[in-house]
Amino acid sequence: MSILVVGSVAFDSVSTPFGTAEEVLGGSGTYFSTSASFFTAVNLVAVVGEDFPAGHLEFLRQRNINLDGVSTMAGRTFRWRGEYGYDLNEAKTLDTQLNVFAQFKPQLPEHYRDAEYVFLGNIDPELQLEVLKQVVRPKLVACDTMNFWIDGKRDALLKTLKHVDILLINDAEVRQLAQEANIVKAAKAVLAMGPKTLVVKRGEYGALLFSAHGVFAAPAYPLDEVYDPTGAGDTFAGGFIGYLASVRDDSDAAMRRAIIFGSVMASFNVEAFSLERLRTLEFDEISARYRKFQLLTQFDGLEG
Ligand code: AMP
Repeated sequence: MSILVVGSVAFDSVSTPFGTAEEVLGGSGTYFSTSASFFTAVNLVAVVGEDFPAGHLEFLRQRNINLDGVSTMAGRTFRWRGEYGYDLNEAKTLDTQLNVFAQFKPQLPEHYRDAEYVFLGNIDPELQLEVLKQVVRPKLVACDTMNFWIDGKRDALLKTLKHVDILLINDAEVRQLAQEANIVKAAKAVLAMGPKTLVVKRGEYGALLFSAHGVFAAPAYPLDEVYDPTGAGDTFAGGFIGYLASVRDDSDAAMRRAIIFGSVMASFNVEAFSLERLRTLEFDEISARYRKFQLLTQFDGLEG
């Protein structure tokens, strides 16, 4: 089952304690689509400027990502500049240039409109809603956002959240959205805003899944080489929703497996800058790491 995704396609400039990258391929839509494409076909909605290289689009096309919904507009592509210190969980945004995204009015191609699985990637919540309105009868709507929009477009975001089934955001964003410091209380408050399921991404500390079934916790895969956490959240979401769409199952058991697939995909992505690790990744490596994850969290029950 294919997934419809809207998100940013970007030039990222990133510095971490281990190196820097200037104007490399990035964006929430790019990371999500590439990660999800290991599980299922993807239809992407986005905009790029005239400065966007054909080679980047070709890379996405080769990963079975349909680009009929990606338009090229006069002007510059979206740009993001960020920096990480030794605490790789926290990105410091130095510059955000919306560029062509500021004028973007998404128009879904006809064959995108009957999508059953929809991912509203991190982008202006007004654009997220605009895209969702054009989908005839979505079965599962997932959504991401960030501090930039929680602060800058709170009312529009709250409107979008009313139509969302699964929200995937990081712990700081959950606290900011709920205006509550305790993560369990904050999760309850977010679940009252619309989503039935909340996935809290906690960087190197793993992820939490909150729903009517209770809470599920997964660690992050312990890695000895982490170069660039940019895109980890979107790559996680791509593995999570990609897996759910591929099995067409939204039971609690499927969601738990999806959390592990999300964690596996994110763990590969942070091993190199930009999308470099995902370019060479094979599905065998994904399933091998899934099995290692199972061992990582296995323990015996109490006797008697
Ligand atoms: P993450 O998965 O949270 O690390 O997302 C990183 C990606 O989000 C980068 O590749 C950026 O291009 C993109 N990004 C950063 N800020 C924004 C924003 N305000 N709107 C849309 N995309 C953004």
